[in-house]
Amino acid sequence: MLKRLLGRIDVGDESEKLKFAQFKELITKVPLLYCILVVNTIALSYTHYEVAPKYLTIYATVLICCVCVYRAVSWYGYRNKTFTLTKVKRQIRSTVIFSIVVGVIFLIWSFNLYGYGDMSLRIHVAYYMSITVLGIVVCLIHLPAAVWSTTLTVGLPFVIFFIATGKAIFVAIAINFAIVAGVLVLIALSYYRAFSRVIASEQDLQLQHEKTQKLNIQNEILANQDGLTKLANRRSFANYLNEKLNEKSEHHSFIVGLVDLDGFKPVNDIHGHAAGDRVLKEVGQRLTRVLHGDCILARIGGDEFGLVIDHSASHSEIKAFGGKITRALQAPFVMRTGLVQISGSCGFAVYPDAGNTVENLMERADFALYQAKTESRGSSIIFSTEHEQLIRKKSQIELALNQSVKKEELTLHYQPIVNGKTEQIVGLEALARWHNPELGEVSPNDFIAVAEKTGVVNEITLYLFDKAVNDLKDWPAHIYLSFNLSAHDVLNNKTLENLKRILDGHGVSSSRVQFEITETTMMSDLDRCSETTQVLRELGFGIALDDFGSGYSSLGYIHKLAFNNLKIDRSFVENLRHNQRSQGVIKTILALCSSFRVTSTVEGVETEEQKNLLLELGCKHMQGYYFYRPAPIEQFELHEGSSE
Ligand code: C2E
Ligand code: CA
Ligand code: CA
Repeated sequence: MLKRLLGRIDVGDESEKLKFAQFKELITKVPLLYCILVVNTIALSYTHYEVAPKYLTIYATVLICCVCVYRAVSWYGYRNKTFTLTKVKRQIRSTVIFSIVVGVIFLIWSFNLYGYGDMSLRIHVAYYMSITVLGIVVCLIHLPAAVWSTTLTVGLPFVIFFIATGKAIFVAIAINFAIVAGVLVLIALSYYRAFSRVIASEQDLQLQHEKTQKLNIQNEILANQDGLTKLANRRSFANYLNEKLNEKSEHHSFIVGLVDLDGFKPVNDIHGHAAGDRVLKEVGQRLTRVLHGDCILARIGGDEFGLVIDHSASHSEIKAFGGKITRALQAPFVMRTGLVQISGSCGFAVYPDAGNTVENLMERADFALYQAKTESRGSSIIFSTEHEQLIRKKSQIELALNQSVKKEELTLHYQPIVNGKTEQIVGLEALARWHNPELGEVSPNDFIAVAEKTGVVNEITLYLFDKAVNDLKDWPAHIYLSFNLSAHDVLNNKTLENLKRILDGHGVSSSRVQFEITETTMMSDLDRCSETTQVLRELGFGIALDDFGSGYSSLGYIHKLAFNNLKIDRSFVENLRHNQRSQGVIKTILALCSSFRVTSTVEGVETEEQKNLLLELGCKHMQGYYFYRPAPIEQFELHEGSSE
């Protein structure tokens, strides 16, 4: 029993939040409780003043009131203090103990007064005791232990005592009190249970809120971070640039840089995506090591990284920095499947010279990057005024190109492919020519890229193919047409269908046409290109892998492609005489061709010496200025001859 009672007094196992809530309630209720005690005590002393001894009506009353006022003031003062959990628990426990002690003192005091008055004064004592107990129960409703202890230590003796008097009025008061007190205790306990549930659900809500906040923070990180490299992503890079532009004046320069990996796609295709991911992660780490403290690095696309150098720098400093980046990326990456060699090109745009919006700066840096990639991979270029002019020219080309087919400005030149030994023409490569009244002659190197970007390339291809097949009809049967296709043509099923339709329309056999597709086109989407080339081969067309060796050739993928001719890039021919390595490469490629049972054509033969060297190396078909320059078809005398 005692243990259970102590258990009720022990207030330790409830939640922290509940303890604090209880304490907060007690701070407002306990001073009121002591006020009730003081008022009730003074009232009882007053009615007993004449009949009871002074030590009960004055001294004890003053003492009790002093203690009550002291306690009330102390509790009132707690409202401005902060308490630790241990202190709160201690206060609650002492409140329970104090309620027992105070209860017992009041009990003794009231029973003493009971002995001195007449009937009405005795009724006042009974009244005093009952309303005091009920008052305490109501005020301590948030502390069940105190409710129990006061009811048991004061209420119970009170009921026993007055029933024992045997007087009807006191027995009635005692029973009445017992019932009211019992009901009140039950109400107090159920109120307390509801109170704890509210606090618990508040706590749950709080926890839920904290969890949501944590999730929000995590989501925020995820939305701004690249999952693979843990660098900032494109979105947060753009946000950062936006903030920079908002806060900086035009006097504070900074530099936006874009880094794009060259030869990364084959890594995925040949070594697998897991290896590709590892390369990207390491690229992120290498770039981080190169950057200074005030630089920001982000991964803004598949194999594209963005950076901001947050201070001004001279062009030579930016160049040197670009050099550091490209050198860092040139070192081989060690993979389980072997060494991976890639490189990275950089484009820089300086604020405010190159632009003053995020779009402008990114576009300009991207333009510089594109220049770096086309001029020399693995280099870095800063956006300049010449680039500005180039952009202007490009947009002029863009506008004029849309009308080029309609205005019949496009024509074809042909460059023969010959048998190196006999110098007999075996095929003719169709090369696009564009003459625009305002722009003059525009090189296909310039306009094909623009046509690809604007999507007009498919229309141009079909227009030129129709012309070429029409010319082909007049050529001797052993001479084939070699026709260049761009990436957009190869990846567009409709264009491929139309090419076949045009050929059929002219009644020409597909065996007389070879499509040239560059190695870089093939690498842009190896799987789809291998499907398309397969379909074209099945339709009877020849397929030449153009510019072989200029990109990131790897012997690992060419077995996937259905080609029957390999055009060796002219870069190998340029220094053939002095460069043993080029000779070695050509020999290797020729050996590869014979093992794949495909023919080869060497491009860019410009001198007799080159031709002889290539013949010695075993090359059969050749093309280049030494034999013929590209020219209109009328300039070639095409003789009937034997097919090889
Ligand atoms: P390509 O297919 O590699 O064509 C060979 C290019 O090298 C031609 O330049 C040709 O004039 C040039 N060339 C030929 N022999 C020699 C040589 O001995 N030395 C040097 N230095 N150059 C030589 P062109 O006509 O300016 O064409 C450039 C590129 O534009 C072509 O490279 C091809 O990729 C593209 N192109 C041309 N016409 C078309 C076309 O109708 N459609 C598509 N998609 N691309 C085309
Ligand atoms: Ca070609
Ligand atoms: Ca070529």
